[in-house]
Amino acid sequence: MNKDIYEINVNDFEVGKPKTEYVIFPSFYGMQRVRAPLYVYRATKEISPCVVVTACIHGDEINGMRIAQALMTEKFKLSQGTLIILPMVNIYGFFNKLRYLPDRKDLNRCFPGNMKGSFGSRFAHFIFQNITKYGDVFIDLHSGGPGRFNIPQIRCDLELSEVNSIIEDISIPLVANSTLRDGSLREAINDLKKPCIVFEGGEGLRVDPVITKYGVNLVKSILAHYDMISEAAEFNEDKFIIHKTKWIRAKQGGIFLSKSQYGKVVRKGEVLGEIRHMTGELATTIKMEKDGVILGMCSTALIMSGDALFNVGILGDTSIDDEEEFFDYFDFEM
Ligand SMILES: [Zn+2]
Repeated sequence: MNKDIYEINVNDFEVGKPKTEYVIFPSFYGMQRVRAPLYVYRATKEISPCVVVTACIHGDEINGMRIAQALMTEKFKLSQGTLIILPMVNIYGFFNKLRYLPDRKDLNRCFPGNMKGSFGSRFAHFIFQNITKYGDVFIDLHSGGPGRFNIPQIRCDLELSEVNSIIEDISIPLVANSTLRDGSLREAINDLKKPCIVFEGGEGLRVDPVITKYGVNLVKSILAHYDMISEAAEFNEDKFIIHKTKWIRAKQGGIFLSKSQYGKVVRKGEVLGEIRHMTGELATTIKMEKDGVILGMCSTALIMSGDALFNVGILGDTSIDDEEEFFDYFDFEM
């Protein structure tokens, strides 16, 4: 792996000229050269504030790559600092349309990594060292897996004051607060006391233009927060903080038919969908167990017992009356 070490050197990039280059990643089997795109836009000699955008840490979550591409090809003016984008971090999974690395590890369980560990751990180490030597704030783009659609939402640790101040200015109103200890990039960045915002939106192996729009606006809203772009963005909206999320799973297998909508507040007892036998007879209905919001939904019809059907965000009892009427921010229109 030593010969494969790649390095991001922001100083190689000219000030005022956004550029995408290819950098060398660890080769396939010590033989096949692997390159991955890297975008750097230095507005000023001073690198800070530096925003780092990563996508495809899960190789099949390609909507993040599309968000990154849209940013990389859009002509916008950065007034200070640096924007670094790595659109295909797990390029191995990306090549194979898979979430995982070639050693079957989940890269987002390997951070911050260790150069004496497994391939996943070493690769995580290289990525982590490269991006954290410059980055002041990190945006990691994800989606649901194949067959699971997530509405645009943020996952972050609101206990970090820097995160709290960013959240006020971002374009996504749904914020799931969590303090995971799971080897994710977000956790490793949190440990450095730097802010990391995870965007979840869309479905694995698919590119959705609406999700792309939400993702691009999110990055721009964070650039605006750091006074790096001057666009007077209409980003700031009320935020709905979710403290707990839960998967509702199929009690039995069959044909799944959803009766619900993304991003809607639903009350305890409301029917979210149904499962039918192969004969067409109703097998079971799926009901909301507590008041909450539909954050994600299974988008495939053939269901096995235990399959995840709805990802719901649980809302507090006091907040639901206020939110019920207008909580449908997710707009399918472009
Ligand atoms: Zn992911």
